[in-house]
Amino acid sequence: MTENFRINLTPDDVPKNWYNILADLPLELPKPKNSEGKDQISDLQKVFTKTALEQEFATERNIKIPNEVRELYMQMGRPSPLVRARRLEEKLNTPAKIYFKREDTSPTGSHKLNSAIPQVYFAKQEGVENLTTETGAGQWGTALSLAGSLLDVDITVYMVKVSFNQKPDRKNIMNIYDGNVFASPSENTKIGREILAKTPDHPGSLGVAISEAMEEALEKDNVKYSLGSVLNHVMLHQTVIGQEIKTQLEIAEEEPDVMVACAGGGSNLAGSLFPFIKDKIDGNSDTEFIAVEPSACPTLTEGNYEYDFGDTNGFTPMLKMFTLGHDFVAPSVHAGGLRYHGMSPIVSLLVKENIINPTTAQQRDAFNAGMTFAKCEGVLPAPETTHAIKAGIDEAIKAKQTGEEKTIVVNFSGHGMLDLKGYAKFIDGSMKNC
Ligand SMILES: *Cc1c(COP(=O)(O)O)cnc(C)c1O
Repeated sequence: MTENFRINLTPDDVPKNWYNILADLPLELPKPKNSEGKDQISDLQKVFTKTALEQEFATERNIKIPNEVRELYMQMGRPSPLVRARRLEEKLNTPAKIYFKREDTSPTGSHKLNSAIPQVYFAKQEGVENLTTETGAGQWGTALSLAGSLLDVDITVYMVKVSFNQKPDRKNIMNIYDGNVFASPSENTKIGREILAKTPDHPGSLGVAISEAMEEALEKDNVKYSLGSVLNHVMLHQTVIGQEIKTQLEIAEEEPDVMVACAGGGSNLAGSLFPFIKDKIDGNSDTEFIAVEPSACPTLTEGNYEYDFGDTNGFTPMLKMFTLGHDFVAPSVHAGGLRYHGMSPIVSLLVKENIINPTTAQQRDAFNAGMTFAKCEGVLPAPETTHAIKAGIDEAIKAKQTGEEKTIVVNFSGHGMLDLKGYAKFIDGSMKNC
């Protein structure tokens, strides 16, 4: 019997192009805009690399992946396996087939390296010596630090101060990859110093960290700023995930009925789903697409679709997206990567057009699903990833009730081996359900 438990591709199967969904959207994507009377950055060219800005507004369907980037993808473990969750299916006693795409197999443990590598590569090509960024939970800062170390570009990471203090291992790993990590607010920047003068024990926020990282890029020569989600060029880079899944499902002779990913800024969702969404837009499939967010930060399910800033201080241009308001502060749930007030404008448009269906999961239910998954399949999901697992399990239970032999694909965005404190809280019962 030849059943496909694990579908591995060869390095040659790493996609040669990124897929740009801007070529296929049913409606034109609303452009970023500036608002009057705010202290906004007027010169984006000063802040972002030339290539990032070009790719942000590119309209061709396929954008070539430079050979060196493709080789680094291979060296860092791409293509990633697609695995059938056989023991989970048995445990749920479902006729559904559940596949999960293992983005946790990257050295930094999540999908973030898929965009970190090209962003650092293009910066290097343009003669940039230092990239600055912000990090909340630490996954993006880790990926960018590794990419910087591989390609010899200095990386400066502003890490939200509470996370900096709570997650020393995240800082350690960034330091191992030569990332310069500062607790934000810091003394490095004008905005940091202003905040510290007023509130010496300020806990920091993603909005403040973005402002600090941007200020440094704005003030210094040969320094640029890099963002790990939300923007179109980041979604673009992540489409290697979905293109690989397509090849893998063809080998398994499967058509997906349901595809699930968690959504913070939208990048792992975009990466795994966009190549399949093209088929749906073209009228060639009726796959259902599900975006899962924490009920503590319900951007897509309860936010408004309107223009809003990307950061708390109103430093960035305004983007048309689902948003809870740029001053929204999500409760401190363990899935730090899903606590953003906004969402990728492309993902937002697809939700608005009912092509992607959003849903929420509560923190304890998500961790419970993560525990079940780990016991059956071995891999411990990141707190963010448990949200996708929860929704995937719900779909498999629905299929059991209706007796349908559905094929469910879950994007497994990262592992939780540096998030064991969250699991410990779940196990000892002190985790809040929110
Ligand atoms: C950063 C992160 C997320 C959320 O970010 P997206 O841009 O929405 O993908 C989800 N899972 C993991 C493991 C992450 O590191």
